[in-house]
Amino acid sequence: MSKMSIVVPCYNEEAALPVYYEEMCRIMEKMSEVEFEIIFVDDGSSDRTLGILKDMNEKDGRCRYLSFSRNFGKEAALYAGLKGAQGDYVATMDVDMQDPPGLLPEMYRILMEESYDSVATRRSDREGEPKIRSFLSESFYKVINRISKTEIVSGARDYRLMRRKMVDAVLEMSEYNRFSKGIFEWVGFRTKWLEFRNVGRCAGETKWSVRKLFSYSIEGITGFSVAPLSLASVIGVAFCMLSFVMIFVIIVRTLLWGDPVSGWPSLVCIIFMVSGIQLFCTGIVGEYLSKTYLETKRRPIFILKDSSERDEGDGYERK
Ligand code: UDP
Ligand code: MG
Repeated sequence: MSKMSIVVPCYNEEAALPVYYEEMCRIMEKMSEVEFEIIFVDDGSSDRTLGILKDMNEKDGRCRYLSFSRNFGKEAALYAGLKGAQGDYVATMDVDMQDPPGLLPEMYRILMEESYDSVATRRSDREGEPKIRSFLSESFYKVINRISKTEIVSGARDYRLMRRKMVDAVLEMSEYNRFSKGIFEWVGFRTKWLEFRNVGRCAGETKWSVRKLFSYSIEGITGFSVAPLSLASVIGVAFCMLSFVMIFVIIVRTLLWGDPVSGWPSLVCIIFMVSGIQLFCTGIVGEYLSKTYLETKRRPIFILKDSSERDEGDGYERK
């Protein structure tokens, strides 16, 4: 009998948890040939999420939980869950039913019957999402796929089922600045993509504001591409060449027509533009520097405050 772990990050999800659990019970019943464990990761919720998780753990031994000392973010929650997972097959899934649990049997069947190492999902549309958000997301995927060698699939969800060897590879990447969509691609392995239509949240609210999404996309770009760093050199060279041409033109003009003093407004504009570009490029360097800085501190990715796990010598910090 094979064992499947399901990693579910939860941040203030008291409303969605019961709905999710009910649906998962149905799925687990259907897949009776598999032994399940669901690892809920409470990402420092301030509502009753942890209480509900404790109740569930008491009633149903398949439900386990890890609880963070504060909100460390979904990426940290995924990492913690994967670390705690013991199954031969491990799935990551949101709790808000936007990753339909109903796809799980099909994903498992593919891994059993075909020679894939992971089955990932992407949504085929962005229905029900604000237009501006869709536009920004699409632009992000265009930019990152242009400048990064790691392909980041547009509309990809963090909903996938993996074999143990792929999970171990993902855990090897213990970087502090985590961007799972990139990490899953970077480790390689054969992945089959399933598509499904976008579904709305079953309860509660999304935790992603446009501002948070923006810094998430910066995380993705700096994590998986260093192309922006060469932007400064490219622009620098272009401006040098331009200035050579301009110097030549000015010398010729002075020789032919003398040197009337004029054109200072254009000079000011040029100074403004060039210093703006310089600051922008310094900013890019700063962005990478700050990531490097945080990475060199080697801070833990998450800190546990509570968990359903007994000490099994697996390196978890416990209260
Ligand atoms: N989540 C988390 N920590 C956070 C933000 C979100 O663990 O800081 C979890 C959340 O509980 C949910 C999943 O990540 O299970 C996806 O979050 P959400 O539904 O808000 O994102 P969206 O689906 O809108 O992209
Ligand atoms: Mg969601």
